Amino acid sequence: MKIINPATEETITEIEEDNTETIRRKFEMLSKGQREWATVETAHRIAVIQRFYHLLEEHKNELAHTLTSEMGKPLQQSFNELNGARTRIKYFIEHSQKYLQEEWITTDGTTKEKIVFEPLGVIANISAWNYPYLVGVNVFIPALIAGNAVMYKPSEYTTLTGLHIQNLLHSSGVPENCFQTVTGGRVVGEMLLELPLDGYFFTGSYKTGKYIAERVAQKMVPCQLELGGKDPLYVMEDVVDIEKTAADALEGVVYNNGQSCCAVERIYVHEKVYDAFVAAYTNQCSKLIIGDPLDETTGIGPLSRKEQQAFLLEQVEDAVNKGAIVLCGGKALPRKGYYFEPGVLVNVNHSMKLMTEESFGPVVGIQKVKDDAEARELMKDTQYGLTAAVYSNSFERAEKVMQKMDCGSVYWNCCDRVSATLPWSGRKHSGLGSTLSYQGIRAFVQPKAYHIRGIN
Ligand code: NAD
Repeated sequence: MKIINPATEETITEIEEDNTETIRRKFEMLSKGQREWATVETAHRIAVIQRFYHLLEEHKNELAHTLTSEMGKPLQQSFNELNGARTRIKYFIEHSQKYLQEEWITTDGTTKEKIVFEPLGVIANISAWNYPYLVGVNVFIPALIAGNAVMYKPSEYTTLTGLHIQNLLHSSGVPENCFQTVTGGRVVGEMLLELPLDGYFFTGSYKTGKYIAERVAQKMVPCQLELGGKDPLYVMEDVVDIEKTAADALEGVVYNNGQSCCAVERIYVHEKVYDAFVAAYTNQCSKLIIGDPLDETTGIGPLSRKEQQAFLLEQVEDAVNKGAIVLCGGKALPRKGYYFEPGVLVNVNHSMKLMTEESFGPVVGIQKVKDDAEARELMKDTQYGLTAAVYSNSFERAEKVMQKMDCGSVYWNCCDRVSATLPWSGRKHSGLGSTLSYQGIRAFVQPKAYHIRGIN
């Protein structure tokens, strides 16, 4: 398997993919290792993860450079991702003990009752490339702390990062037979579906997630999915600072080269501030610096996958054919690397793919609305349900819109944000189950109910 640098289109290195035989051996190793790991004190497992937390900091330069080289995010954003991952790990270090220890429910009377939380066993973590550290630690850290063994399949677009993660976890003291990386793409992912694993934790597209859920259903084991989105942002006419609102929205659209699951994917603006917002947004967007992601001044690097250029161009073309106007960008750059100039389109509506299909790139449509009711209906008009944002001076007014959203996270005067202390979940085509917060700790255990008679 070739590892390609999306900024230069050059081959960084070649890696041997796993196959049925290597995966079978890894599975047997993990099954054995998990039984021992589950008997280790939770405090010890947490101490091991604490060392991983420090190693990420010690090795951050090398890790950030590898990540930027293989998937193209600006270097500073690779450092930000590592910091963000450490914040999440810190949350798990500080809170896991509390949510994993046994819970006495009834201590009076003849029958005492308690709940014990037991690990699931050997789980699969099939992961995405856009934030390999963030979406990875959401799964493998709480899974390991809870006493599971993990078969981790990084995306084929961030294989080297996956191998770094494995090395650092092993150096931290996670036994080799409790964490194994398998390398490869779709075919290797399919091999994991053949195994009798005890849980499947997937981050990626709706299409793959649905397929995995259908395959795994027959196994009757937990299957959690963190999938895509088509997240709306609504600007009410009472916003205090249009420039700042436009800056926030732009960052929500283009951060990580537009490849965030919770990126702002469509914008609705009240007619009274529509012209001012569009002017501010377009002006700021046209000033973004596109270029080599290793250069510190770069704001936008290349897309991670070549096919995505054609996919975005097709969305722009479809919108233009249906009457949209391109105010800036929205095209591939004629240079080496998978570069795409951030785009702004107006005169858009929901007959266009740009406003209904996940774009997963630095392009957005801005639609004018006459009032909150119209904005609310348009925001809800989607198969996805990851996040929705409202910008307004009035929390009461924003809340009326947020309450109606059928999605896992809502934002007032912020967007494109994930917090370790809150559950991260998608509804409808955006996923099943939660990671992060106490719910994301309990996701990796199964309760056992004890009914106890005969002791005082
Ligand atoms: P993808 O679905 O193409 O691939 C995800 C993973 O699944 C990869 O490791 C891939 O090799 C593997 N895979 C592909 N086909 C498979 C199959 N048939 N069987 C088993 N495994 C298979 O997604 P991607 O391009 O890596 O990620 C982008 C998508 O992920 C976007 O839709 C994005 O919104 C979503 N995402 C969601 C979240 C979230 O938290 N909700 C976070 C990050 C990314």
